[in-house]
Amino acid sequence: MARIGFIGLGNMGLPMALNLLKAGHAVSGFDMSRTQVEKLTAAGGKGAADLAAAASGAEVVITMLPAGKEVREVYLGGNGVLGAAAPGTLLIDSSTIDVESARAVALAAEKKGFGILDAPVSGGVGGAQAGTLTFMVGGSTDVFARAKPILENMGKTVVHAGGAGNGQAAKICNNMILGVSMIAVSEAFVLAEKLGLDAQKLFDIASKSSGQCWSLTSYCPVPGPVPTAPSNRDYQAGFTAAMMLKDLKLSQEAANAGGAATALGAEATAIYDRYVSGGHAGKDFSGIVTFVRDTRR
Ligand code: NAD
Repeated sequence: MARIGFIGLGNMGLPMALNLLKAGHAVSGFDMSRTQVEKLTAAGGKGAADLAAAASGAEVVITMLPAGKEVREVYLGGNGVLGAAAPGTLLIDSSTIDVESARAVALAAEKKGFGILDAPVSGGVGGAQAGTLTFMVGGSTDVFARAKPILENMGKTVVHAGGAGNGQAAKICNNMILGVSMIAVSEAFVLAEKLGLDAQKLFDIASKSSGQCWSLTSYCPVPGPVPTAPSNRDYQAGFTAAMMLKDLKLSQEAANAGGAATALGAEATAIYDRYVSGGHAGKDFSGIVTFVRDTRR
C-alpha cells in the first residue's frame, strides 16, 4: 500500500484514482473542481485542500491534467509539486501533452532529485473505469520499475518506451495513425455508398482483407457492423473529436520541431479542425464520416 497524491480528478483521473483506492492505496486527491474532489472522498479517498497538500506526505504523485500548460503550472509553479513533494517522491504524469513540456518538467524534477515518468494512456474513460488502460511510459529504467506495480492497478498493459518524453512520443504517433486511419475508413464507406456497395458487405470483406485496421473492426464509423461502436448511438463519445484534434495538433508540432514529413497527419489535422469548428467538438471522433459524406468533391 502506498500514500498517493492524485491531481486532476476529471473524466479520466477520477476513475483511475478510484481504482487505486480499490487496490488498497491511501489516495489524497486535488482538483480545481470541488465536486470532483467530493466524488473521491465519497468513495473513501481524502480531499486535499490544494496542490501542495496533495503532494506533501505522498510517496507517489500522479497527475492527469488537460494539457502541457497545466502540467507545467502544477509541477513548476510557485506552490507546485516540485516545491511541495518530499525528496524521493515518485512523480508520474499521465496527461497527454507535448513532448517538449514533458521533457522540460522531467529535467526540472530530475535536477531536484525526483524520479519522474511521463505515462500517457490509451483506452479512454471506459478503460480508466475498468482498469484496463495501456500506459506508454518515458523515463529511466529504475524509475519505471518502481512505478510499474502502481500503474498495473489502473491498466493492463504497461510499456516502457524509452527515456523522458518517449511515452508522449508513442502516444502522439499512435493517435496520428488512428486519426488518419479513421478518415481513410470513413472515405472508403462513403465511396462504397456512391458505388452501390452495401456497408456490411464492405465490412465483411475489408475486415478479412488488407484494409483491416482498428478503426474498421473495433470502431467502425458507420452503424451496424460493430454494435459497440459509437456510430450506433449517434456518435456519442467515446473519444471526442476535440481530443483527437488536440492529439493531431501535438503530432504536427512535434513533426515541425523534429523535421518529419507527415503529409497525411497534416491533412487529418486540417479535416478534424474543420469538423470541430463546425460545432462537433463533443461528438465521437468517428463522427468524421458524416463530415466526409457531406464534403463536396
Ligand atoms: P478532464 O477535463 O475531464 O479532466 C481534467 C481535470 O483537471 C479537470 O477536472 C480539471 O478541473 C483539472 N485541472 C485542471 N487544471 C488543474 C490544476 N491546475 N490543478 C488541479 N486540477 C486541475 O480531462 P480528461 O478527459 O480526464 O483528460 C485528462 C488527460 O487525459 C488529457 O490530457 C487527455 O488528453 C488525456 N486522455 C483523455 C482520454 C479520454 O478519453 N478522455 C483518453 C486518453 C487520454
